[in-house]
Amino acid sequence: MSDLLKRLLDKGLITKKGGMVILSRDGEEAYRDITLVHRAMETLLFRAGLSKEEACREVKEFDYLMSRETAERILHLMGDPDTCPHGQPVVVKE
Ligand SMILES: [Zn+2]
Repeated sequence: MSDLLKRLLDKGLITKKGGMVILSRDGEEAYRDITLVHRAMETLLFRAGLSKEEACREVKEFDYLMSRETAERILHLMGDPDTCPHGQPVVVKE
């Protein structure tokens, strides 16, 4: 289970049933939004000189607190990158 899924589970946005992860509608949206914020801010910190790992670790502390709209503004400011420093797509498709 990914780290993000574990955190969503803690917040009650997803539930586990017989080993399967069930995302509620709100959970799915939250997953996409937090992922976008995470990857946007990771890109920013990486460009500011942090390593990928440092950037990831720091962003985990607040990615679930920042709005998607704010992260989208920062992405725009950075020239709308398609991927994070790990090469993952910033926008998760539905
Ligand atoms: Zn990360």
